[in-house]
Amino acid sequence: ADEDSVSVSLPLPSILTSSRESRWNDTNAYGSKKKLQSWLQLPNGDWELVKIITTSADESVISLPNGKVLKVKEDILVPANPDILDGVDDLMQLSYLNEPSVLFNLQYRYNHNMIYTKAGPVLVAVNPFKKVPLYGNDYIEAYKCKAIESPHVYAITDTAIREMIRDEVNQSIVISGESGAGKTETAKIAMQYLAALGGGSGIENEILKTNPILEAFGNGKTLRNDNSSRFGKLIEIHFSEAGKISGANIQTFLLEKSRVVQCNEGERSYHIFYQLCAGAPSSLREKLNLLSVEDYKYLRQSNCFSITGVDDAEEFQIVKEALDVVHISKGDQENVFAMLAAVLWLGNISFTVVDNENHVQAVEDEGLFTVAKLIGCEVEDLKLTLSTRKMKVGNDNIVQKLTLSQAIDARDALAKSIYACLFDWLVEQINKSLAVGKRRTGRSISILDIYGFESFNRNSFEQFCINYANERLQQHFNRHLFKLEQEEYIQDGIDWAKVEFEDNQDCLNLFEKKPLGLLSLIDEESTFPNGTDLTFANKLKQHLNSNSCFKGEREKAFTVRHYAGEVTYDTTGFLEKNRDLLHLDSIQLLSSSKCHLPKLFASHMLTQSEKPVVGPLHKSGGADSQKLSVATKFKGQLFQLMQRLESTSPHFIRCIKPNNLQSPGSYEQSLVLQQLRCCGVLEVVRISRSGFPTRVSHQKFARRYGFLLLENVASQDPLSVSVAILHQFNILPEMYQVGYTKLFFRTGQIGMLEDTRNRTL
Ligand code: ADP
Ligand code: MG
Repeated sequence: ADEDSVSVSLPLPSILTSSRESRWNDTNAYGSKKKLQSWLQLPNGDWELVKIITTSADESVISLPNGKVLKVKEDILVPANPDILDGVDDLMQLSYLNEPSVLFNLQYRYNHNMIYTKAGPVLVAVNPFKKVPLYGNDYIEAYKCKAIESPHVYAITDTAIREMIRDEVNQSIVISGESGAGKTETAKIAMQYLAALGGGSGIENEILKTNPILEAFGNGKTLRNDNSSRFGKLIEIHFSEAGKISGANIQTFLLEKSRVVQCNEGERSYHIFYQLCAGAPSSLREKLNLLSVEDYKYLRQSNCFSITGVDDAEEFQIVKEALDVVHISKGDQENVFAMLAAVLWLGNISFTVVDNENHVQAVEDEGLFTVAKLIGCEVEDLKLTLSTRKMKVGNDNIVQKLTLSQAIDARDALAKSIYACLFDWLVEQINKSLAVGKRRTGRSISILDIYGFESFNRNSFEQFCINYANERLQQHFNRHLFKLEQEEYIQDGIDWAKVEFEDNQDCLNLFEKKPLGLLSLIDEESTFPNGTDLTFANKLKQHLNSNSCFKGEREKAFTVRHYAGEVTYDTTGFLEKNRDLLHLDSIQLLSSSKCHLPKLFASHMLTQSEKPVVGPLHKSGGADSQKLSVATKFKGQLFQLMQRLESTSPHFIRCIKPNNLQSPGSYEQSLVLQQLRCCGVLEVVRISRSGFPTRVSHQKFARRYGFLLLENVASQDPLSVSVAILHQFNILPEMYQVGYTKLFFRTGQIGMLEDTRNRTL
């Protein structure tokens, strides 16, 4: 099949269309395979499928795919599934539910361009890193009329729409996975489906156009992903009672500000800077005194200016058109670009030492003049703001000169604040444009695209916040999967003792407990004038060492046992990042501006600082903007997010990155396995193991295994035949349940019957 074209007649590989039903009934597929297969773990950790030739007491003779014959201890073999189950579209159908079987199943499908697989109620999406012929109007149409049933983002989105209408309950699609796993693309695919089904009013186009805008301002190239989102996003799409899209609302979480002033070698800052420099027309270029990217220090430091396959100038046009669509006026667009240029030029401001105490002054050069012009303030005021700090000591106002590092910090803090305010302002404007009328009668579907669990060699405050968010989401995930799972049993009338599940409440307590939790302690230390990263780390060790999820490490480090694994955090910079202070002088500078946006930003910063405060209150009498700490603000946002999600019926998508090279066709087992463990897919599988993951209707079961019966059964009805089979094979009563319509089995039970059947055939 030609994989690059989408044909109107939908020539799907046959496996795509074969549903669970046809696989069960497909007797030809059994052939004469009688040998049993198992998984053998190779020294490099990968798994290989081997054939078992003979088995004695505790040893087996096996043959490897390369023909080699080996004798191994029985217990190192992990049972493999019969060939008929190769590439099943729901992992729940696997008779043997183990890591190699799950890995192989996903790999099998991935190799056949079937990147989507169900893990019970969860959709697993393996990033193809290439165009796969699974999208577009023909596919949307096919999923809409249920002509295709194989797992897909379209299918899960379709379910969400139907359930929203049927149950009159708001829905959510929660997408998770590591950086580069495909969350943002998946979110866009879901949005496309929603727009296609609920479109008509035109607002759907506006909603789709928010993507290029938010990606330009909130995404950048990292070592993991050329288009990495550096913020979390929840988009709530509203529907009228007639099922048409009536509006939307976007909430963003914790933009990574530090990227504006600093990023690693080989990475880039936010796309929009490069787009502006490459794509601005000459009149704008002149107005903003724009240079090329290489001339800006903030962009130059990471030594990476372009992305393979991306034309920044072209992207700039796309962003401008998108801004038009969401009703941001040409005038406002120009103000936005001026703020971007101001940020870039700020980075070019340099300082000279003016006395023998290492105090500095901003150099009066093109950088300083351009920034003053772009933010609409006096050159002299800007110069003072960047070189001095006003303070109150007793009743006296004094002016303290800044050292070089203090001045650079002040300059960078201003650049970061302007950018963060600009981002928030844009989201606010977009929301105004997408706003649902006052008469909000209908329902909504929310899509959550938020950073996944992160564990690097060095983990800082950002990872701390991100992983905390993931603990919260994991709890939500667990609760819902258990609930759904148990509901089906109850519906089919089986005897079901409620399973209590292992939750991650201990770890959440470690973060949230007051007054002795990680978040409280970081806030407390942030307010102490003499608090440092070291005193913070020591305080954690002093108070939290008895907590089973916490482990103190040497010096400034500590380890948290997350649900997805242990992460060691280095507290360097924690307090600074948590305080996230901007000098009052800088805010005053912005409010003195003649321009609209800087003035607005200043007033936003001031309202923020009226709330409960964190920050070294009287650090030598310093006048800083006192405001909510980053951790506290983030926690508040998360609680609000969880509340919103709890009021919806959730659908989960777990994205998997098959390799670290962003390249198609490569599937690294250990990497995939680590993510399956991390993002809880194996957890779902494990959870299902305590239940009855295999479900077969009475009819199907009787038809498939009836011939194995040694004695005739008095009644030929499917239920009686099924029960007779169960008895003949001594399937223990705790291994199955008989429901009104289906038989429910624990993992592995059907595999045993299937093996017997194969031997008999
Ligand atoms: P995340 O948001 O999880 O960090 P992205 O959604 O940005 O990851 O995906 C990273 C890259 O992977 C994309 O830029 C794209 O090249 C590729 N990709 C992801 N999903 C798909 C898909 N369904 N089809 C084709 N390419 C994809
Ligand atoms: Mg993303």
